[in-house]
Amino acid sequence: MSGQDVHKVAIVGGGQAGLQAAFTLREFGFTGSITLFAGEPFLPYQRPPLSKTYIKEDSAPDKVYLRPERFFVERGIDCKLGARVASIDRKARTLALSTGETAAWDRLVLATGVINRRLPVPGADLDGVVMLRGLEDAHDLRPRIKAARQIVIVGGGVIGLEVAAVARGLGIEVHVIELGERLAGRISSVPLSAHLLAYHRGLGTTVHLGASVTAIEGREGKVAAVRVDNGQRIETGLVLVCIGVLADTGLAANAGLEVKDGILVDEHAVTSDPAILAAGDCTRFKPAHGVLDSIRLESVQNAIDQAKCAAETIVGRPRVYDALPWFWSDQGSLKLQIAGLAAGHDQTILKVDEAKGGVAIYCFAMGALIGVECVNRPGDFMAARRVLGARKRVTPSDVEKPDFELKAFMG
Ligand SMILES: Cc1cc2nc3c(=O)[nH]c(=O)nc-3n(C[C@H](O)[C@H](O)[C@H](O)COP(=O)(O)OP(=O)(O)OC[C@H]3O[C@@H](n4cnc5c(N)ncnc54)[C@H](O)[C@@H]3O)c2cc1C
Repeated sequence: MSGQDVHKVAIVGGGQAGLQAAFTLREFGFTGSITLFAGEPFLPYQRPPLSKTYIKEDSAPDKVYLRPERFFVERGIDCKLGARVASIDRKARTLALSTGETAAWDRLVLATGVINRRLPVPGADLDGVVMLRGLEDAHDLRPRIKAARQIVIVGGGVIGLEVAAVARGLGIEVHVIELGERLAGRISSVPLSAHLLAYHRGLGTTVHLGASVTAIEGREGKVAAVRVDNGQRIETGLVLVCIGVLADTGLAANAGLEVKDGILVDEHAVTSDPAILAAGDCTRFKPAHGVLDSIRLESVQNAIDQAKCAAETIVGRPRVYDALPWFWSDQGSLKLQIAGLAAGHDQTILKVDEAKGGVAIYCFAMGALIGVECVNRPGDFMAARRVLGARKRVTPSDVEKPDFELKAFMG
């Protein structure tokens, strides 16, 4: 794809990926028009604080804005807030908004993110059953959590656990109900899940594993209790549903693009239509690291790095997306940082640092290190990013040596 005949770029989705695509286009000297269609009524913002500090503070939305308004103005990026794209006409190279307005494009970037899964049980629509994805959800949750005496969190993934730690910090009784046999099982090794379980139980959270909600009971339209299939009935006025997400692929699928639990993109962030690119949580692709054939990543790193690739493709300087995945989660005093793609590992080695505290879990596939999960070990995390990014070979026997230091492999 050449960048020469591209004059109009439209970006659907004003999140981390959409903003990054717009800025990188300008950084690479793109002089045509850039229109960012942001479905939400806010400037692009950071989602990570929403499940950590933002819900216990009284700060305004601009605290989490990625850039102030003038950044968009100075760079000539037309940021249309509250503008939802309803359909794409690939042949005419136009898009239509839900208001009926249309806009033309030469290249289109889809950065539509994900949507939360809904809890399919009776009572899930009662007042007091909430979800967390965007600023509006955080503004709804904030006064509720401050006023709560108990909260039931359905789903023991990282977002649910982050909110659980905030709630315990506020002195609230917390129950986490997790369907799987371990916490954060989708992104964690078995030893990491065990570490998270011990930490959250230590905070005083009641964790129910292998359990699911069968019904939510109400009183006068408001949540009163949660029924669990382990026979328990937990009285509560607040239920937070955090049971995962689905890639927001409706627009792409309706336009006839290839979609399979994510918009399929190649190593240059191009979809099945060469004029349409996609980046961030909404994409599925073959990762350059780890052992999986395809993946969908929900992380700030992926949104930023893949969007940069999409923009570079548009300006005619395609570069393979091979950035090392990394992720973080703050749960109270527990700082989790994961470098690499550990999914699909067949061996783990746990290293506990008795002197400094914290643990590092080294994850291997077929004898080679593919990911490192660090809890309160920022130095090891930085070393892991360098070593894995440089594709240095580290084996289980290296890690098992008593004097093993990952940073020795950085050189
Ligand atoms: C509470 C929370 C905590 C998180 N914590 C962490 C963390 O600690 N570390 C980490 O790495 N990641 C974290 N994440 C994940 C991270 O925020 C996401 O991976 C990242 O925001 C993805 O960016 P994105 O641009 O792909 O999607 P999003 O940020 O979801 O943006 C997509 C945007 O597209 C809009 N949109 C969709 N369809 C349309 C349409 N048709 N027209 C117009 N607009 C549309 C949506 O409204 C949305 O605003 C967290 C996420 C949440 C929700």
